[in-house]
Amino acid sequence: MSYKKVALIGLGLIASSIFWSMKRAGMATQVSGTARSAQTRETARKIGLCDEVTDTAADAVKDADLVILCVPVGAMGSVMAEIAPHLKRGAVVSDVGSTKRSVIDAVTPHLPDGVQFVAAHPLAGTEHSGPEAGFAELFDNRWCLLTPEAEADADAVSMLADFWRALGANVDQMDPDHHDLVLAVTSHVPHLIAYTMVGVADDLHRVTDSEVINYSAAGFRDFTRIAASDPTMWRDVFLSNKEASLEILGRFTEEMFALQRAIRKGDGDHLHDFFTRTRSIRRGIIEAGQDTDAPNFGRHKT
Ligand code: NAP
Repeated sequence: MSYKKVALIGLGLIASSIFWSMKRAGMATQVSGTARSAQTRETARKIGLCDEVTDTAADAVKDADLVILCVPVGAMGSVMAEIAPHLKRGAVVSDVGSTKRSVIDAVTPHLPDGVQFVAAHPLAGTEHSGPEAGFAELFDNRWCLLTPEAEADADAVSMLADFWRALGANVDQMDPDHHDLVLAVTSHVPHLIAYTMVGVADDLHRVTDSEVINYSAAGFRDFTRIAASDPTMWRDVFLSNKEASLEILGRFTEEMFALQRAIRKGDGDHLHDFFTRTRSIRRGIIEAGQDTDAPNFGRHKT
């Protein structure tokens, strides 16, 4: 069984990738979509994103069996409040937000009777945003984590899991708070570190702009890619995953001080042991099929 109608609220990178991926999968599902700005709706219509682009969220969710909230996490609550009176009885609402506890807390108070919320997070993205950024392959072999609350209907959860599998994703379930801690380690704090490093390079007046740009191969270039991610999305991620982010940042700072001390004291063993341990993590990621083993991530030029 699959959904007859899916509504996408917010038409950026993730929503557009969902749509193109649904089309690639040959789903017969009718897809409606809407975005906050007239400009985004106009672009969506021009590029054929969604079967129907409506001017209001209320129109988009009309008769939808599945509604996916694809807006920044800080906007989930207000969007849910707006669509709530227009949802069909029996509909399932889901989301794609990068944090889960705050989204569940913001959305569930607005849920009307007979409507379920099953939170989800596809672990896939790029530094690009907007309706033209999406592509059908985005979710291929990436994880989509579902974080349903204990009382969620098992059929609704398994139907949503099937939907994500049809888009190419691997699906797993996780407790929302645990999700937020895991993502603080794997995504949120690494983004903050990249933002910091790029900001530091920018502040270093001894390093001229052209030196930073010309010699940005290897590590720094990858930081600049991550630090180009959408500022609204990432502001919201840190504001809504405050505790876990601070916990992991605290541990990061401790480790950083230990490495700083090892450098000062010339403790090569400490550095070597630490780098040996981290190298094996990279091997694990490649063995799990989550990245390429090609030198320089398969790029031809440095
Ligand atoms: P995006 O490309 O920037 O698109 C965001 C969409 O949300 C746009 O259509 C925008 O409308 C709309 N929007 C922004 N603020 C809004 C507000 N206050 N009220 C109503 N609508 C608003 O973002 P995205 O990358 O697709 O991210 C969407 C969600 O996916 C976020 O919750 C993010 O945490 C999550 N996510 C992102 C990634 C990633 O790498 N990008 C990965 C996994 C999950 P306008 O275009 O009209 O401004």
